[in-house]
Amino acid sequence: MMLGAVEAGGTKFVCSVGDETGKIIERTQISTTIPKETMSKVIGFFKSYELQAIGVGSFGPININRESAGYGSITSTPKPGWQDYPIVKTLEKQFRIPIGFNTDVNAAALGEATHGAAKGLDSCLYITIGTGIGAGAIVQGKLLQGLTHPEMGHILVRRHPQDTYEGKCPYHKDCLEGLASGPAIEERWGAKGVDLVDRTEVWELQAYYIAQALMQFVLILSPKKIILGGGVMNQKQLFPSIYKYLKEFVADYVYLPELADYIVSPGLGDHSGITGSLMLAKQALQGNI
Ligand code: ADP
Ligand code: ZN
Repeated sequence: MMLGAVEAGGTKFVCSVGDETGKIIERTQISTTIPKETMSKVIGFFKSYELQAIGVGSFGPININRESAGYGSITSTPKPGWQDYPIVKTLEKQFRIPIGFNTDVNAAALGEATHGAAKGLDSCLYITIGTGIGAGAIVQGKLLQGLTHPEMGHILVRRHPQDTYEGKCPYHKDCLEGLASGPAIEERWGAKGVDLVDRTEVWELQAYYIAQALMQFVLILSPKKIILGGGVMNQKQLFPSIYKYLKEFVADYVYLPELADYIVSPGLGDHSGITGSLMLAKQALQGNI
């Protein structure tokens, strides 16, 4: 099976050609400018292959409701030109093959569940902590979807009593993303995360908020594995602090497996999203969406 995959991000689009086993044969990176320019490069890259399907894991929010007229579009993004942009229709018109479409984090969850840290499990949660915070979930073997896709990065958390930072989320100010994303770290502490490695208070506060979110996800979804990715999670010292706070917050109320095996880094490194997008292509081809 020759499949195409797009990891559509706000700064770059990663495009790959691969197969149903997750093997990547060719890969390219295209900057995200205006849709016409970016998409014509995406199309140009895929044109030289005989693809059977393409999967797209996209930044969002996106419309994944197949019954609605706007299915397959990016919806309310501040990125110029991308608002209501019909990414699926554009690819369908060019290639006339099945196009799979889901969020970037749902794609990453699918990649990790098929070939990564949650391989063989029928449930997992993938969370990215980067420019934004988002999560995708596999529940009973399927990507979690209701009215639309979940937006787990914007849940509310209890403020740390000493944290006076107002929060960075343009919609909710001090939601999880507003308090714990990369840009929130930078604004609160006046330096990028990568330059704050030795400031233990930075990572303690970070872990305090992440652990609260994890407690809620565990209580609501009961995932069999939790995968923490994104730029901020390069700070590996976060893991032990997250385990400590999660244990404290959950307080023996629910069963938690050994946390070092349960809450882990992506098994596929930086390739969770693109591998998952390949799997979205496979699902689209098999009509399994
Ligand atoms: P994006 O979310 O845009 O796809 P990333 O997951 O790389 O990209 O997230 C970028 C954010 O993560 C930035 O705010 C950046 O400061 C932060 N970040 C990237 N690398 C590190 C690091 N090694 N340590 C701490 N923060 C980092
Ligand atoms: Zn928010």
